[in-house]
Amino acid sequence: MSEDLAKSLTALGFAVVDTGGGCTAWRIALPRHGYLLITDGEGGASHDIDNPQACTIGIYDEQSECVCITGGALEPPTFACPRCQRTAHLYVIVTAEARLWEDKDSNLQTEVEGDHDWDDHAPMRCGCCEFSGEAQQFKTAKEAT
Ligand SMILES: [Zn+2]
Repeated sequence: MSEDLAKSLTALGFAVVDTGGGCTAWRIALPRHGYLLITDGEGGASHDIDNPQACTIGIYDEQSECVCITGGALEPPTFACPRCQRTAHLYVIVTAEARLWEDKDSNLQTEVEGDHDWDDHAPMRCGCCEFSGEAQQFKTAKEAT
């Protein structure tokens, strides 16, 4: 990101914070409760804003629940964290078929082959705020319709 933008945000009182899971953001406390985060426009995982016109701005209450979020991707995402609304560090547990065999020392060996699968009930986790639940809880209004 440009040095000028970093200087401007710092002058306004924003500070770079680690929001967990390797995610960073520009944070400023709101006058009464909560805080505002500004991040990049590609899933909101980084404070490193390449394009200020496409940054993500989120407002969070004192429990770190997202009140509203804007900016970022032109197309709304299909999956987003229901807690922090970020999309960049979602993880899902998949089911994969693996070949199983027993070697000459009787150790069981597995090797994943072919495809893997997951559905609405697969455990999903947000690496940014550590929210976890079923995949269907992460579906946005876009996917639900
Ligand atoms: Zn989250």
